[in-house]
Amino acid sequence: MRILKIQTLRGPNYWSIRRHKLIVMRLDLEELAEKPSNEISGFYEGLVEVLPSLESHLCSPGCHGGFLMRVREGTLMGHIIEHVALELQELAGMPAGFGRTRETGTPGVYQVVFEYQEEQAGRYAARAAVRLCQSIVNKGYYLRQELEQDIEDLRDLQRDAALGPSTDAIVQEAQARGIPSMTLGTRFLIQLGYGVHQKRIQATMTAQTGILGVELACDKEGTKRILADAGVPVPRGTVINYFDELESAIADVGGYPIVIKPLDGNHGRGITIDIRNWDEAEAAYDAARDVSRSIIIERYYTGRDHRVLVVDGKVVAVAERIPAHVVGDGVSTIEELIEQTNRDPNRGEGHDNVLTRIELDRTSYQLLERQGYTVDTVPPKDEICYLRATANLSTGGIAVDRTDDIHPENLWLAQRVAKIIGLDIAGIDIVTENITRPLREVDGVIVEVNAAPGFRMHVSPSRGIPRNVAGAVLDMLFPPEKTSRVPILAVTGTNGKTTTTRLLAHIFKQTGQVIGYTTTDGTYIGDYLVEPGDNTGPQSAQLILQDPTVEVAVLESARGGILRSGLAFDASNVGVVLNVAADHLGIGDIDTIDQMAHLKSVVAEAVLPNGYAVLNADDHRVAAMRDRVKSQVAFFTMNPENELVKRHTQQGGLAAVYENGYLSILKGDWTLRIEQAVNVPITMAGKAPFMIANALAASLAAFVQGVSIEQIRAGLNTFKASVKQTPGRMNLFNLGRYHALIDYAHNPHSYEALGGFIRNWTGERIGVVGGPGDRRDEDFITLGKLSAGIFDRIIIKEDDNTRGRSRGSAAELILKGIMQVKPDCPYESILDETTAINKGLDSASDGSLVVILPESVTRAISLIEARRPVGDDIQQL
Ligand code: ATP
Ligand code: ATP
Ligand code: MG
Ligand code: MG
Repeated sequence: MRILKIQTLRGPNYWSIRRHKLIVMRLDLEELAEKPSNEISGFYEGLVEVLPSLESHLCSPGCHGGFLMRVREGTLMGHIIEHVALELQELAGMPAGFGRTRETGTPGVYQVVFEYQEEQAGRYAARAAVRLCQSIVNKGYYLRQELEQDIEDLRDLQRDAALGPSTDAIVQEAQARGIPSMTLGTRFLIQLGYGVHQKRIQATMTAQTGILGVELACDKEGTKRILADAGVPVPRGTVINYFDELESAIADVGGYPIVIKPLDGNHGRGITIDIRNWDEAEAAYDAARDVSRSIIIERYYTGRDHRVLVVDGKVVAVAERIPAHVVGDGVSTIEELIEQTNRDPNRGEGHDNVLTRIELDRTSYQLLERQGYTVDTVPPKDEICYLRATANLSTGGIAVDRTDDIHPENLWLAQRVAKIIGLDIAGIDIVTENITRPLREVDGVIVEVNAAPGFRMHVSPSRGIPRNVAGAVLDMLFPPEKTSRVPILAVTGTNGKTTTTRLLAHIFKQTGQVIGYTTTDGTYIGDYLVEPGDNTGPQSAQLILQDPTVEVAVLESARGGILRSGLAFDASNVGVVLNVAADHLGIGDIDTIDQMAHLKSVVAEAVLPNGYAVLNADDHRVAAMRDRVKSQVAFFTMNPENELVKRHTQQGGLAAVYENGYLSILKGDWTLRIEQAVNVPITMAGKAPFMIANALAASLAAFVQGVSIEQIRAGLNTFKASVKQTPGRMNLFNLGRYHALIDYAHNPHSYEALGGFIRNWTGERIGVVGGPGDRRDEDFITLGKLSAGIFDRIIIKEDDNTRGRSRGSAAELILKGIMQVKPDCPYESILDETTAINKGLDSASDGSLVVILPESVTRAISLIEARRPVGDDIQQL
């Protein structure tokens, strides 16, 4: 077997609209192509031996053990690898259920598709599954140790990619609410929502968390002073900078027991509490000094440690934090008890897991000593033996939910404190004997206020009810009346995508909003080019969706990008499908027009249920997409008698139609006329039918998004097929004696469309034709045939870049096509594009039209501009 390619999909795609995270592995089965599993001796046994858990895969028989039954009876290796890849991820703690395996047009080559949770882990699983199966084929087994190593590697990859627990809680909640989320540049910065409506978070700080509040919270002494001034109970204390101030500071706070902590520490670093004598104070001073220059000396308050979480002015959760401890069983030593406790799979390193493993430090030994113990002591049964003084989860503590127990006065106090410090999300640390009583009554204090408090203890407490605190954050960022999305309008089809995308963006501009759009020519925001290039893939779409100024996104969504990684968005508001024709066939395992239609249909199917799929009713493959979509449907047609559209509008559906020279919207019984085609420059005075179709599609897409008829009309009136607005698309130049037209048509369907316009020309029609070398032979022949039907005289040329073809072979094929249709057609073969274009222009007769289908649009334009065109005066036509 040989892996030919592994692709990672991240959005709605060819295989599934709903499952976005898929690995697609192109696999050459080689010698195994003809060998189902039942013909490989020992394969079934070897597979079950190493992966007995495959028993749970149902597969087509639909019952327990169904998949293994298929293996025993005989199934091909691609299918088995799909299941193994899923199972490996399952064993590593990343369950994934969806898989498909299909043969491609190349015999023996398969596409193995399966779901992943983490990209890198998914790609690893693909390779590991092939390795595992190949080993069983060759040797009859796959070593247990190798499997274990695979699973460990997969776990590592998952850990590397995982978000922190608090971030993860927020992202999960966003997902549940249908709010899109994505990681920006650095993986700690998360964007929620799209475009102008986006909100950013980093852990539990939001873009609206005030920097003053954060800085104040980080300054423990400043916080305490401000709170004390506001009458909030805080520990009595003082700050010192030198060791010789320590003794009098202790006296100032009223003597032992005291707490010593660094002025700007966190996670309990450098803190010693319950200090009872000078020796301990000295050691504590040194420990705090390692963390911070200035040191806080405070009175020690006995009591339990609580964390009160305030979000947007409201207490949303309260947790009691209990320091790391073990409970005696009467037989094990403290060391053994720690080991047992750490074996809990919920305990991990740092903040990775629900709990953190217990590790002993200086204070642990001090605490044990106070209890008269060492690590080798066997504590009596049920005795609680504390190993840490502070209750931070990150030092092995546990949390117990106490949200329902807090006294209303404490609740009020905590909410007030968050406001005083100025934090939208605040974690308030309270030490009190009894959280159900007001602090003042029981001598409780607020020891600290934390910015960016962790959510772990509230989301997964060791005891008590988990609290959906992320929900409160999202309620704050996206209150019910606020949307998280900008309208997304995606445009696909074989021909006319760029033109329609630009026109649609131009129409939308009439509403005064900032439009971000991507096309084959570049990425634009408002009136400016952000990035030139063929930007019809997901990366450019991401750029638009991440831009904080964009109010509407119009995205040309080409075949290549959808195939490579799926759509860049989870769902759109409008999906326009213009047409499906033969082009790019044979690339990326899309070999037939029907497969191509299925691929383009992704754009229609990914529309939100309340959005619209805008479909071409004159193209039966596009019209058929109506049965696959979840959204509403609106049709456009050049034919007012189109039966499908008639039925659709009779049932109250929406459509756009070309009737009596007008571009009109049909809404139920009403016909809303937008504009006469002759007044829409892009239609070449109504003479280019395919442009009318594009204009109908763009108008309809804008209309379903609430753009008014007046605004649509203004857009149609002012959008010209000029070199500036749509370079290479129907650019007509008046050269005085004759005209020249530059167009980018590059497949039979667009030639035909173009022919519909050119045939209307009354003078001589000269074609300068050629096409990209990576098309099939038959495509060049078709091109020749069509040219013969459109032009009076033809100059055949080739691209500079022959894309792997031998020089002259494309031209020969085109000629062959011409001769099949019109053997007496005057022609010349000039392979160099510049020479060919100049020849065409030089030889133009009076009143003729020279149609140039160039490889390089900019070069062709500059060749014409050198001849000083009068302008592109359409009215002359
Ligand atoms: P974190 O970042 O986890 O909040 P931190 O390093 O910022 O910890 P503090 O919150 O100031 O440190 O203190 C840690 C814990 O030590 C408190 O939650 C509390 O349990 C205990 N503690 C701190 N000061 C006192 C005090 N004056 N009296 C009693 N306990 C205290
Ligand atoms: P690409 O796949 O190269 O990005 P595209 O789909 O973006 O192409 P455009 O750049 O808008 O298409 O147009 C390319 C050419 O296709 C035009 O110059 C014209 O010849 C032809 N064309 C445009 N619209 C249509 C249409 N609706 N039907 C058929 N041909 C069209
Ligand atoms: Mg704290
Ligand atoms: Mg394009």
